[in-house]
Amino acid sequence: NRASLGDSVRSDFPILSTTFSGNQLVYLDNAATSQKPRRVLDALVGYYHQANANIGRGYYQLSHRSTDSYDRARSVVQGALNAEHAEEIVFVPGTTAALNLLADTWGRAIVGAGDQVVVTGMEHNSNLLPWRRLCDAAAAELVVVPAGQDGRVRAEAFADAMGPRVRLAAVTHVSNVLGTVNPVSEMAAHAHRAGVPIVVDGAQAVPHRRVDVRELGADFYCFSGHKAYGPMGIGVLYGRRDLLHQLPPYQVGGGTVKGVSTTGPVQYVPAPARLEAGTPHVAGAVALAEAFGYLSDLGWEAIQAHDELLVRAAVDAIGRLPGARVLGDPAVEPSGIVSFVVDGIHPYDIGGHLDAHGIAVRCGVHCANTFVDTFGVVGTVRLSFGVYNTESEVDAVGRALRTVQPGSWTREHPNERFL
Ligand code: PMP
Repeated sequence: NRASLGDSVRSDFPILSTTFSGNQLVYLDNAATSQKPRRVLDALVGYYHQANANIGRGYYQLSHRSTDSYDRARSVVQGALNAEHAEEIVFVPGTTAALNLLADTWGRAIVGAGDQVVVTGMEHNSNLLPWRRLCDAAAAELVVVPAGQDGRVRAEAFADAMGPRVRLAAVTHVSNVLGTVNPVSEMAAHAHRAGVPIVVDGAQAVPHRRVDVRELGADFYCFSGHKAYGPMGIGVLYGRRDLLHQLPPYQVGGGTVKGVSTTGPVQYVPAPARLEAGTPHVAGAVALAEAFGYLSDLGWEAIQAHDELLVRAAVDAIGRLPGARVLGDPAVEPSGIVSFVVDGIHPYDIGGHLDAHGIAVRCGVHCANTFVDTFGVVGTVRLSFGVYNTESEVDAVGRALRTVQPGSWTREHPNERFL
């Protein structure tokens, strides 16, 4: 039943009973981080209760148990992404870490002076700055394929950028600002025709759709567990096996080597261990696997129908508000995000007003300054939905917005530095 997913799963999320100033929390900042269901929290704590030991290092049963848990988590993620091999899954702290790893290892190895790296005009800073810095260091050129005002990159425009100097492309799957979806499989096909490998930032896609890395044609695919009902501090870098094995070591240290001497050659182990130096976040990986189990039990069809319902309800509610405008077209392939502006009212005024009603949203430029700039606005208000949100919460936003005034929020924005 489409209408009831939010109501039926709310009790899985302990934090949702929190109140602020007498209002029950309406949490609509899921694109920043999602809340965690009890079963993910239990898996996290359960690991420490029953399996905690360092992995791959101990000759005792508890260490084997821990190692098995970690290996199982990798297989679960492999299955969830339909990756061909478990060793194509590298556990990292999150999307930002994965993208920096790629730029600092593979990027440095293959991008030289005069080469080009292609990104889109709708990237989060985490999929822009690592490539920007790489290009600056290598005297290479960063080429930006702009998105249209609908919030999508046209596959043909991307194909036109695939010239002979391009070494790699890095594109977002779903916009964290608008919730719009790029034609990634077409873009990947164009890139491959030109011999260019493609990195996909899947941070906003993984919580909302079944991602099949092979169907997409992604050579690398990155995401964060914490936006997909898993814990903070764990994320995934998927890499096609042949490419992953070409990656030089990133951080070096424990777990990355077969043979070491102080002066002679150092022999590194193959990926994924080569790229997971030091003690990994085993509990995080275990809990992330549990989050995928949770999503698959809810079912992707139900999740997408739920996203569609809430996105349409939000677009309607904002459409009824005088002077309000939704940016892009988030209802084409709903991904749980709706961004809007209201004439003459600063996004912070709106965010502050909603907060006074217990409604948590993100406002500003959402770490995608250059993309938001193309809309000629100082920022947007972003509603982003999770599986536990309901139509009545969207109604509450609509009701609260009817009384928003310019200048209604005077407190200095506490998180301004994170814009
Ligand atoms: N890319 C996109 C599209 C995102 O939305 C985010 C998180 N807002 C990131 C990258 C960075 O993710 P993290 O902070 O978990 O590394």
